[in-house]
Amino acid sequence: MPADTAFMDKLTALCKRRGFIFQSSEIYGGIGGFWDYGPLGVELKRNIKNLWWQEMVVNPPIGPDGREVEMVGVDCSLIMNPKVWEASGHVSGFADPMVDCKECKGRFRADQIGSIPCPLKPSKPVGKHDKCQLTEPRLFNLMFKTYVGALEDASSVAYLRPETAQGIFANFKNVLDTSRVKVPFGIGQVGKAFRNEINPRNFTFRSREFEQMEIEFFCHPEQSMTWYQWWRNTRFNWYVNLGLKSEKLRLRDQGPEELAHYSKACADIEYLFPFSDDFQELEGVAHRGCFDLSQHQKFSGKDLTYFDNDAWERDRAARAAGTLPALSKDEEKEVKNKEPYRFLPHVVEPSAGADRATLAFLGEAYAEDTAPDEKGNPETRVVMRFHPRLAPVKAAFFPLVKKEGMPEIAEALYREAKKHMTAQFDEQGSIGKRYRRMDEAGTPFCITIDGDTLTSGTVTIRDRDSLQQSRVHKDQVVAWLIERVK
Ligand code: ATP
Repeated sequence: MPADTAFMDKLTALCKRRGFIFQSSEIYGGIGGFWDYGPLGVELKRNIKNLWWQEMVVNPPIGPDGREVEMVGVDCSLIMNPKVWEASGHVSGFADPMVDCKECKGRFRADQIGSIPCPLKPSKPVGKHDKCQLTEPRLFNLMFKTYVGALEDASSVAYLRPETAQGIFANFKNVLDTSRVKVPFGIGQVGKAFRNEINPRNFTFRSREFEQMEIEFFCHPEQSMTWYQWWRNTRFNWYVNLGLKSEKLRLRDQGPEELAHYSKACADIEYLFPFSDDFQELEGVAHRGCFDLSQHQKFSGKDLTYFDNDAWERDRAARAAGTLPALSKDEEKEVKNKEPYRFLPHVVEPSAGADRATLAFLGEAYAEDTAPDEKGNPETRVVMRFHPRLAPVKAAFFPLVKKEGMPEIAEALYREAKKHMTAQFDEQGSIGKRYRRMDEAGTPFCITIDGDTLTSGTVTIRDRDSLQQSRVHKDQVVAWLIERVK
């Protein structure tokens, strides 16, 4: 499918016009790779993050063994001891090979030059225009550097975290020691990450500041492939259930040549974004073995192994009962500190981007169809068909006219609804115009207070997608809405 640039233009225009996403510091001309979320965008993105937290950390699905999956959360600092990034490999390895063009002075990722338009001749890709003069590829570290404290020298260098994952690994022992989790269990985190991307582009898809929703799931090496498969499917289904259609969403297993040396398996959850003719990564689910914990163990000098007390007690009882061979005190001491009782857990990492998810849900929701105008004639409308759980505004309350007590009833219902969900009150302009505004915001339900409300006590609830109107008694409206948007 070719990239739909016209669609992308419409989507970015709507995002700006309706306050989903703005260019950062726009009044000063903006700054490449940084974006701000406006009143509607912040609600949408927050819904995505909250749903992720609720469904992955607070109440995850039942695991592959038929038991509840144990999950806890953390919220780590953006700047960590720089040794963290030496241990993780980011200081030496978090670099993309880059080429510079001596003619246009641009810098481009070497693996992308065939797909990036030449700044001097956008109809041709970088490298294919006669004037391009590309250097040999050179490595460029993507971490943002800063200084901690008053001195700006080598001893005070620190980095803005390029991923949230390492904060989880660095706190593995703290979490084990302070909560009652037992392997298998996971730690989730949602937070900002920073990468000095060379070619930030495609709206928020490749930004320099973005948010991640990451899980590190710690399990016994023998069970790790089972957990990997389970997370891979669980994360894919999460997007499907929130409305990403399967033909635009795919799970792609990485080939052996793509895998990091320590990784046993990795799958990318990819989406066909409108700016591209190819599927792009929305989330990666990786089997990371014990690479990260062993690196942090090595660099910190701290023991990060896990002691499986349950297995130990079980086998001790078996030894006492004679079903396993008995051990001397010395043998016991030695065996206790070895596999299968003490080991470095293996890790499955589902790593998602909140901004890429937001962009995918925006693209999926955007639609144009026809709906009746004020006089009942068909007119084109732009409608954001968000899943009700993602919709930034769940309900809008309209008095048909600004008199006869209708605004008071509408406002009272709006105030009641606001205690449970995002809601708006709108009495400006014709009903048709008010519907259109809410369609563009993706509000699933619009409630109109009209003449019948005054006599029968019922209001009209109009469905954003089917355009059907149903009458519900005003005393039941909020309960009716809660049932549909929660
Ligand atoms: P890419 O190959 O697209 O640069 P990546 O493989 O480096 O992505 P990861 O390091 O696996 O990405 O990060 C996990 C997730 O974080 C990605 O799937 C994506 O959703 C998000 N992410 C990574 N880089 C960016 C970015 N520059 N802007 C927005 N989101 C990002």
